[in-house]
Amino acid sequence: MNNATCYACDQPATTKEHTPPYSFFPEGQRLNLITVPSCEAHNNANSKDVEYARNVITTMFGTNDVGQQHFADKALRSFDRSPKLLNMTFADIRPVTLHGQTVGAFTMQTDRIEAVMNACVTALHFRDTNERIPNWEVILPNLSFQGDTTEAQAAGWSGFLSMFGQVQYNVKPTDSPDVFQYAMAQILGGWIYNLCFYKAFTVFAFAPSVSPE
Ligand SMILES: [Zn+2]
Repeated sequence: MNNATCYACDQPATTKEHTPPYSFFPEGQRLNLITVPSCEAHNNANSKDVEYARNVITTMFGTNDVGQQHFADKALRSFDRSPKLLNMTFADIRPVTLHGQTVGAFTMQTDRIEAVMNACVTALHFRDTNERIPNWEVILPNLSFQGDTTEAQAAGWSGFLSMFGQVQYNVKPTDSPDVFQYAMAQILGGWIYNLCFYKAFTVFAFAPSVSPE
């Protein structure tokens, strides 16, 4: 790690950070995980938010067996350890009907999930390009339709998302695609990332390119 700098700042790297965070990966899905050089401050800097994001994403309707098993193993255990965390995560849980099934809906702290995804994309981009972009515009399509979304808003969102969907992405292979996959594209002087967790939870992030160092 000679002369390596941190993925998130210009300090010398003294350790490695997993991206996505290690705790997203169940046992048996931890082969060749992606790491980036990191300073002490940016190593596990957001571990509380990481735990929150992992718990919420594995709870989501539609995550695959790997995500659901990980929820049973890890998220339930972290709720056992901390009833406060459980209450905070599902404070306003209420039944709603989705695709004919009754499921629990709760208000998410999307800013915390966005912060985790921002760090994740910063790290992936540093690894792929050596370019350090600390701030990304993060979009979480799975969480963008709330009960009070109007049809006009929904239509606007659909157009926006289909625009992202039409981009020609460069798919980056990962060794645990049931947990995490991603792809990137360079367009109009900027970058777009498309991340997918547990084959269900999608993240888009975009940022203008910074000048090369
Ligand atoms: Zn740093």
